[in-house]
Amino acid sequence: MNFHSDTHTVIYPAETALDERDGRYLRKAIVWSHAARRRGNRPFGCVIVSAAGEVLAEAGNSNAETGDCTAHAEINALRALAERKLPREELAGATLYASGEPCVMCAGAIFWSNIGRVVFGIDAERLRVFRGERQDQRDAELSCRDVFRASPHPIECIGPALVDEASAAHDGAWK
Ligand SMILES: [Zn+2]
Repeated sequence: MNFHSDTHTVIYPAETALDERDGRYLRKAIVWSHAARRRGNRPFGCVIVSAAGEVLAEAGNSNAETGDCTAHAEINALRALAERKLPREELAGATLYASGEPCVMCAGAIFWSNIGRVVFGIDAERLRVFRGERQDQRDAELSCRDVFRASPHPIECIGPALVDEASAAHDGAWK
């Protein structure tokens, strides 16, 4: 899909260039988005990485498989992360990679996790082109950045990034 030739007047946010490390982990989250789709779920993936570069948790969306409307990739990864019982200071140095811009629910969960950095692939605006106008596919139009800005601790947010790669799993995935 070519977002730039769209006839609508929506101006999509500019892409951020990533360094090798961020690119590697975001691509890992994108791999999870394809895995989620293959299992019949919404195509989203998430990977959480420590400051030292250890993958702490990873997951795909499992809405369809579980019937759980909160089973977004970020929530699933955060729940897997909980088993490690890591101190908040360590989580502050971790980065959450999401193949798609976190929704308002996931942004809230990221806030509660104390994870201090987020890198995402396709942004919510471009995602809305795939979601279309169907009520059950539309998202709440509140940016994750608005949630992060309201946080008393800093949450760095980088994205959109690797948009073409992150978009591929969405091609034909929405009704
Ligand atoms: Zn979400």
